[in-house]
Amino acid sequence: MKNKNIQNLLAKLKTQGIKNSKILQTIKKVPREQFISKNLQNQAYENIPLPIQCGQTISQPYIVAKMTELLLLQPQSNVLEIGTGSGYQTAILAHLAKHIFSIERIKTLQLQAKKKLQKLKLYNISTKYGDGTKGWPTNKLFDAIIITAASEKIPSKIMQQLKQGGILVAPIGKKQQILTRISKTKKQFIQETIEPVHFVPLIYDT
Ligand code: SAH
Repeated sequence: MKNKNIQNLLAKLKTQGIKNSKILQTIKKVPREQFISKNLQNQAYENIPLPIQCGQTISQPYIVAKMTELLLLQPQSNVLEIGTGSGYQTAILAHLAKHIFSIERIKTLQLQAKKKLQKLKLYNISTKYGDGTKGWPTNKLFDAIIITAASEKIPSKIMQQLKQGGILVAPIGKKQQILTRISKTKKQFIQETIEPVHFVPLIYDT
């Protein structure tokens, strides 16, 4: 049953335009059911977002795949993720990049995600409890940055941590949100709008 559900999901993602075979293989490999509560596990391979604890959501598999594809990850990429949530997107990224630095502002979720990721033996991940709008708390630069919560403007501290040649992917907007990719070149930031999306808000802690 599980295999059939995964095959159906992969077929669906392909029809939605996900072409990168490494990403599709990773979606096949990472057990999404382990990132959601028991009573919803029968829906783990449906192409839908699902509620997790603390009023948050695990993103839809298509959105996870799309955002991952837009990041153009390399095996040597260091990635910053804001909004660990369930840790599912983190696990996908960990299979495709060198190291993932992930921040979550809800302690319960951060601890749970950390445990799950360790159980899956994904050791190239550092999780942190805190306000991601302030960026990673050392002045580290990242090849890729993913924000999995929506804001009207990308916080400047996060923008400052993007390497030259780096790529940031985030939903921009409040009620109406657009998935956006920002590439940092030598001279400027290039912004591409991708498609409408719906994320929980990025919270600015004071
Ligand atoms: N990629 C996650 C998405 C979780 S929803 C998944 O698929 O499971 C977005 C998450 O962003 C929530 O867990 C929320 O608590 C977190 N978040 C919101 N504002 C934040 C902030 N300022 N810093 C860190 N995390 C934040």
